[in-house]
Amino acid sequence: MIVVMKLDHTPQEADAVMNRMTDFGLKGQPIHGAVRTVIAGLGQVVQDHRDEISMMSGVDEVIRVSKPYKLSSRETHPEDTVVKLSNGVKVGGGRPVFMAGPCSIETEEQLWEACTGVKKAGAHILRGGAYKPRSSPYSFQGLGVPGLKMLAAAGQELGMPVITECLSVRDVEAVAQYSDIIQIGARNMQNFVLLEEAGKTGKPVLLKRGLAGTIEEWLLASEYILSQNNPNVMLCERGIRTFETATRNTLDLNAIALVKRLSHLPVISDPSHGTGKWYLVKPMTLASIAVGADGFIIEVHPNPDHALSDGAQSLTPANFADMAEEARSLAAAVGRPFAEPPGALATAATA
Ligand code: PEP
Ligand code: MN
Repeated sequence: MIVVMKLDHTPQEADAVMNRMTDFGLKGQPIHGAVRTVIAGLGQVVQDHRDEISMMSGVDEVIRVSKPYKLSSRETHPEDTVVKLSNGVKVGGGRPVFMAGPCSIETEEQLWEACTGVKKAGAHILRGGAYKPRSSPYSFQGLGVPGLKMLAAAGQELGMPVITECLSVRDVEAVAQYSDIIQIGARNMQNFVLLEEAGKTGKPVLLKRGLAGTIEEWLLASEYILSQNNPNVMLCERGIRTFETATRNTLDLNAIALVKRLSHLPVISDPSHGTGKWYLVKPMTLASIAVGADGFIIEVHPNPDHALSDGAQSLTPANFADMAEEARSLAAAVGRPFAEPPGALATAATA
């Protein structure tokens, strides 16, 4: 249930509602919106609980949440969630952003070339993997902490927030220390302990949809993060496994449009993993704008032929710049122009 507090309720009245929820064996979680405060009552709610709480002082109304995912549902939180990052970057709320950079951080030179290239082309957030979930244990596994440090330094130098994947509970602390956003990869969408630990850091979390995750399972997975009192969750559609083998995955545009309707969380599209082919990244980015994506996570490598992972789906910085230009025109044409990117390259690079 959602308990909507009156505009002039007192902190004591909110505490009393929380305590009553505890008496009922429920978990009370306050959600402070721009205008209203609501308290979500999580657990096995019965009609008696709703009736009793609706009579308490300071309570405006009690709403039954029909969806199994409570905190991520638009029923609980009708306005879009906006995740605020460093350097004035915001994700959600109608102005799309680009997250871009290499699949894997390989060397300082490779990372710097990719990052300066995407910055120049108007990206907002830098991406780069230091822990890589590879199908084969013999493939490049990522640089680990030295890679995290390289990404953090690039972000610092260029005045941009950074995102990187956390593969395991073992690495949550290090990833939270060096990254602005913790990425949970497709293979870990239902690693519930990892979701809770990432949520507990208080850092924004980008939750990718699992290779075979249904939309309901994906939204339920987001609850594991949100229920740690961490409202800063972004969802990422990165393609699902279907019978089709001509592309690496099938980027589910239905899911982007549907999840925007079901949930208030920002939805990011990943046309790189969604297609597996660099020349499909531009058309699927444009298509994702049309269906309402709040942003894009795109793989960029200065020399895709020599990439240690995902070269076939990586854009060169020049291809990224060309794609970004077209995406900006389309987004402006449909009335949802891209957000301003943080700071100009010249100022940041010489600072
Ligand atoms: C990645 O972003 O490089 C990655 C491994 O993504 P996914 O979890 O979507 O496969
Ligand atoms: Mn990749």
